Amino acid sequence: MTFSLIWMPDVLLKAGLKVALTDDWQDRGAGEMGAVQGILCHHTAGPRSGNMPTLGTLIKGRPDLPGPLSQLGLGRDGTYYVVAAGRANHAGKGAWEGVVNGNASFIGIEAENTGRAEDQPWPEVQMDAYRRGVAALLGHLGLSAVACAGHKEYALPRGRKPDPSFDMKAFREGVAALLGGVAPTPPLIPAIEPPSPGKQPRQTLRRGASGPLVSILQELLEATKDGQFGAKTEAKVRAFQRSRNVVPDGIVGPKTWRLLDGHTFAPHSDRPPQR
Ligand SMILES: [Zn+2]
Repeated sequence: MTFSLIWMPDVLLKAGLKVALTDDWQDRGAGEMGAVQGILCHHTAGPRSGNMPTLGTLIKGRPDLPGPLSQLGLGRDGTYYVVAAGRANHAGKGAWEGVVNGNASFIGIEAENTGRAEDQPWPEVQMDAYRRGVAALLGHLGLSAVACAGHKEYALPRGRKPDPSFDMKAFREGVAALLGGVAPTPPLIPAIEPPSPGKQPRQTLRRGASGPLVSILQELLEATKDGQFGAKTEAKVRAFQRSRNVVPDGIVGPKTWRLLDGHTFAPHSDRPPQR
C-alpha cells in the first residue's frame, strides 16, 4: 500500500533541495504513521567515505532492527534520499515536547556522518540542506522549529544516543530563521568558475566529487592523490583556506582555486624527487 508521507519529495524540491527517490519508497514502512508532530534529526554513524553509504541499511534495516530506519537520508552533498512514506524504526524510547511515541509521531532524517572527530565540522552544503529541509517539512506541517529534536535530546534514558553531533539549539535557530523568512540567502558558489583570460573554467569541487580535477586539486594541496574528494581532502582544503584567511568551508570555488594557483608550498628538501 501507499503510505501517507508521499508529499515529502515535492516539499523538498520546492525548497530548492536535491532529491533522490529510492525504489518503492511510497510503499515502504513499518505500517502507517500516526499524526506527524515533528522531526527527529540523526546522524548515521556510518562509513567515512561516500555520499550516502548507509542508504542500503536505512532501507533494509540491521540484524537487530527491521527497516526502514528513517523516512529520509541526507547525503554529504546535501541530497535528500527518500526512503519511506510510512513509519520507520528510528526513535526508540524517549520524550520531547510531550511526544513519547517517536516512531509514530516523528519523521526521521538520518544524515551521513561518522559522528567522530575526523568528520567534524559537517560540510556546510550538508548542514545548509539539513536546515532547509527541516524548515520546509515543518512549514508544510504547520509546525514551529521547537518540533524538531535531536535524537540525543529525545532519547531516554539520557545519554542513550549521541546524535546528531552538532548543536541542536543553534540548528533550531537556523530553522526558525528560515521559517520566519529572515535567514540570509547563503552565498551562492557558482558551479563553474567564470573563465579568466587564457584559462579553462574549472568546476567548483566539494566533498563527494571525484575525477581528474580532484587529482589536480590534491596535487596543489600536496595531499594523497587518489582523485576522491573525501574527508581528508576536505580537511586539507579547510586548513589551506584558514591559512589564507578565507571562510574555511571546505569547498573549492573560484576564490579558493585562485588562491591555490598563486600558492607555493614550502619546498620539502628532505623529499625524494617525484616522478
Ligand atoms: Zn539516531
